[in-house]
Amino acid sequence: MMNKEFFTFDERIKEVSKKALAKASSMFNEIEEITEYNQQKVLAAFINNNVCEADFCGTTGYGYGDRGRDKLDKIYAEAFGAEDAIVRHTFTCGTHTLAVALFGILRPGDTMLCVTGTPYDTIHSVIGLSGEGMGSLKEFGVNYAQVDLNADGRPDLDAIREAVKSNPKMVYIQRSRGYSLRPSLSVDEIGEIVDIVKANSDAVVMVDNCYGEFVETREPTEVGADIIAGSLIKNAGGALARTGGYIAGKKELVELCAYRATTPGLGKEVGCSLDENRNMFMGVFNAPNVVGSALKAAVFAAAMFEDFGFSVTPASNESRHDIIQALCLETPERLVAFCQGIQSGAPVDAYVVPEPWDMPGYDSKVIMAAGAFIMGSSIELSADAPLREPYAVWLQGGINFSSAKTAIMLAAQKLLKEGLI
Ligand SMILES: *Cc1c(COP(=O)(O)O)cnc(C)c1O
Repeated sequence: MMNKEFFTFDERIKEVSKKALAKASSMFNEIEEITEYNQQKVLAAFINNNVCEADFCGTTGYGYGDRGRDKLDKIYAEAFGAEDAIVRHTFTCGTHTLAVALFGILRPGDTMLCVTGTPYDTIHSVIGLSGEGMGSLKEFGVNYAQVDLNADGRPDLDAIREAVKSNPKMVYIQRSRGYSLRPSLSVDEIGEIVDIVKANSDAVVMVDNCYGEFVETREPTEVGADIIAGSLIKNAGGALARTGGYIAGKKELVELCAYRATTPGLGKEVGCSLDENRNMFMGVFNAPNVVGSALKAAVFAAAMFEDFGFSVTPASNESRHDIIQALCLETPERLVAFCQGIQSGAPVDAYVVPEPWDMPGYDSKVIMAAGAFIMGSSIELSADAPLREPYAVWLQGGINFSSAKTAIMLAAQKLLKEGLI
C-alpha cells in the first residue's frame, strides 16, 4: 500500500513511534469519545439556531442586524452552556479579549482576586503588575490581590476560602498551565473553587479559558463560572477563524463586556462582520475535532519522549485539561534541535530554521517553532522553549493528527541525528 516514503525515518524513530501509538491507544479512545460528544453539542447548536447560507453573508459599516454575527453568539453560548456570548473578529487576541472582560466588569475601588497564582504574562500589564502609564486596571483604581498555588501547583483551597471573605468583586481563575509546569485545572476543580467562592462571597467568577475549550465535555460556565473568555486562534476558533475572541457567561455580564468592547449604550448592536462569518462558523464547527487532533498529538509526543527517557507533563496516560504538552529535554541543545525539527515538518515555512533570540519580556533567549496558515495560531502545531531551567519545550496544537505526528517524528529524528538521544 505504501509505495513511497515522503520522509525517511530512522528505524529507531519508527519503532518508538509505533510503541508510542500502542501506549496511547486507550487515551486516544477517551479523546475520541470527548470529541464526539462535543461535536454533537456543537452540531446541535447549529441545528437549534437554524444556521443557513444567508448567515455567512458579510455586513459593513455599523453592522446593525447582522444575523450571522448574532447567531454565532448564540451558538457559542449554547456550546459553552452559557446564557449569552459575544464573539468578534475585532478582538485582536486572547489578551485583548480578557482585558475587555476585566475592564467591562471591574470598577474603581473593586478588587480582582486571582486564585491561581501569578496570571499569564501578557495579563500583567493589563492588571498593572508591570508597566506604567498605559491605562492598566490599577491606574483606574482597581485593586489586585492574589492567592498563590500550593507547592504542588494545585489551588490552595483553604487560602482561597479565607481570601474571598474580604468580598472581592471578582475571583479570577486561569484554567491552563500556560507556559509553566503547574498542572492545568480540570473543570471539576474549577467547580470546586466556584463553590467555595459562592459560599463565602458575592464575587463574580471569571475564568481565563485559553487552551481549555472542548478538551473536556463541560466548560467552566457549566460548573458555575460567571464569565469565561478566550482566543479564536487557539482551541475555540477551530484553526479556521482568522482572528478574534469570545466572551461567554451570564447575560448581564456579557452585556457589560459588550459595552466595553464597543461603547456604553451600543454594546452588541454594532460591529460589522465584514467577510469573517463563514470562517467563524466553520471554525467553531471544526473546533471539537481539531482540539481532539491536538490532544492526540500531545499524547503521542508525551509517549514518545517518555520512551526516550525524558520527564514529560502531563504524562501520556494522564487525563488532560488543556492542549499543552511540556517536554523536559534537559539541555539547550535539545530544545533547539526539537524546535528546528518541528519547524521542518510544518506545512508553511518549513524551510525556515528557527534560532534562539532575545524576545522582549523574557529573561532568557527563547526559541519558537511555528509554521502556520494563520500567523501566531497555536491551535496549529507549534513549540516554544525558553533556554533556561528546567529546559522544557511547550508543544501545542495540530490541525490534523497525521501531520502533527509526522512533525513530532521529525523532531525526534533531529535529536537522534545530532546524537542528543
Ligand atoms: C494564550 C493565552 C493568553 C493570551 O492570549 P493571546 O492570544 O496570546 O493574547 C492568556 N492566557 C492564557 C492561559 C493563554 O494560554
